[in-house]
Amino acid sequence: MNAARTIVHELAHQWFGNLVTPEWWTELWLNEGFASYMEYIGLNAWLSLASTLYFRNFFKSMYGVADFINNIRGCSVSSELCSAPCGSSVIRMMSSFLTENTFRKGLSKYLTEKAFKNAVQDDLWHHLTQQAHEDKTLDKDKTVKEIMDTWTLQMGFPVLNVTNNKNGKATLTQERFLLSKNASSSNTKDSYRWWIPITFASRENPNFNVTNPKLWMSPKESTKTIEIPKDGWVIFNNKQTGVYRVNYDDRNWEMIIDQLLIDHTVIDPINRAQIIDDAMTLAQAGLLPYETAFKLLSYLKKETEYVPWGTALDSLKYIKRMFQHTGGYGALREFSLSLILPIFEKLEFEEKENDNVLDKIKRVEILSRVCSLGYKPCVNLSVDLYKAWMENPDLSKISPNFKKFVFCIAIREGGFDEWKFSWDRYEKSNDGAEKNLLLNALGCSKKSWILNEYLNRGIKEGKGIRKQDSASVFKSLKDFLKKNKDGLLPAERAAQQALEKAENNLKWMDNYYQVILDWLNNNNFRNNI
Ligand SMILES: [Zn+2]
Repeated sequence: MNAARTIVHELAHQWFGNLVTPEWWTELWLNEGFASYMEYIGLNAWLSLASTLYFRNFFKSMYGVADFINNIRGCSVSSELCSAPCGSSVIRMMSSFLTENTFRKGLSKYLTEKAFKNAVQDDLWHHLTQQAHEDKTLDKDKTVKEIMDTWTLQMGFPVLNVTNNKNGKATLTQERFLLSKNASSSNTKDSYRWWIPITFASRENPNFNVTNPKLWMSPKESTKTIEIPKDGWVIFNNKQTGVYRVNYDDRNWEMIIDQLLIDHTVIDPINRAQIIDDAMTLAQAGLLPYETAFKLLSYLKKETEYVPWGTALDSLKYIKRMFQHTGGYGALREFSLSLILPIFEKLEFEEKENDNVLDKIKRVEILSRVCSLGYKPCVNLSVDLYKAWMENPDLSKISPNFKKFVFCIAIREGGFDEWKFSWDRYEKSNDGAEKNLLLNALGCSKKSWILNEYLNRGIKEGKGIRKQDSASVFKSLKDFLKKNKDGLLPAERAAQQALEKAENNLKWMDNYYQVILDWLNNNNFRNNI
């Protein structure tokens, strides 16, 4: 699948980059943004998974196009990484609020007129505005440039605060979303405003398919009051096509949680993922109580779809890491298992012939998480598969998709024999992908003398590790190295970043560890070890 994405991406550059070339580096995001947007369009045509996979990517990397432009010098080495994800999110938002038909027609006029020439983003905005006014998909008093400048020329993205008043009205405000606030950022908070396309669904009308907005919140409006149904929940940002997060008043959050617990299928799967991601991220930023976010996660016991699950697994990773070396880990583990075991039992530990790509990804992600939580039946199955492979090396029954976590679990649970077996396979194998899997697994051992030996082989030439693989050895050992960092001299910049991260993590522990632990204990999740 990655191969397919790369091919579509590079093909798209024939239009975005080669046919029409940006005038200067600051417009580079247009190339990369469109090329990665086309990846998802291409995948959609092939597998109709686009929105699903798109969302995983989108959630992981929401930052402003302007961040990229401002950092252009620092980013020059890996500009694709810097500009592509957010650029493509902003483009997707544009295609949604203009409607796909208008977007396509405007885009093709832009490409025709600018063929074999240079362009700036204003050229694109011009053609899209003309088309949108012609098609009446955008009011005459608005231009695409006016809207898009707020998304591409300033940093970050907003959080929309929605207060569901009981009288059939909702009050909206917007502010810049920041994961951690510091003195300098709070001073400038007021100067950041966006043109936000407003769409919503409600209990009365749970239609999440309308992504062309009837309403806009403009940068000039500090608050906006709109009509909503009088009773029940509202959920804003249909299919999360807008590049913004949404926070609600307590009562509306409660009504959303009730709906999820009673019948979550009323809410679109993409919006379920959005709600999980928003709740957990807002809690991390101190904008929503963790109790609310955790209560919301409880509905996952009944969730079977991949998009919400993938998002939930991602957002629990941070908490898991923070709890890992604390007394509260046992309670968190109990909670996580209570959510994930129902779907684990359903999926079973083998790939089915009629699984589609999405089923396969879902199974691997669920199994590897359950195993990494140390759930015995899952661990035992992995260890058995690996043992069978050791006994009969030429006949591996381990599905290629399972290899990554099965190898790792077996080496983590095993001793030197298990480790040595993978080491020998690494030396013998001619398959680059397999070599990488093995390198990763070799770092999973819990025995420090084995890891020391591994590190030694990674550093010294002629000890069996290919030169280009040394970096992978370090990557697989990163937890081990963190614990034993005396004697390692990290570069100044990396050290500074690590320090800032550590400070944020300490603050997080001070603020939220006890809150989460209390919630877990009050809900009968305890340390059973
Ligand atoms: Zn590219």
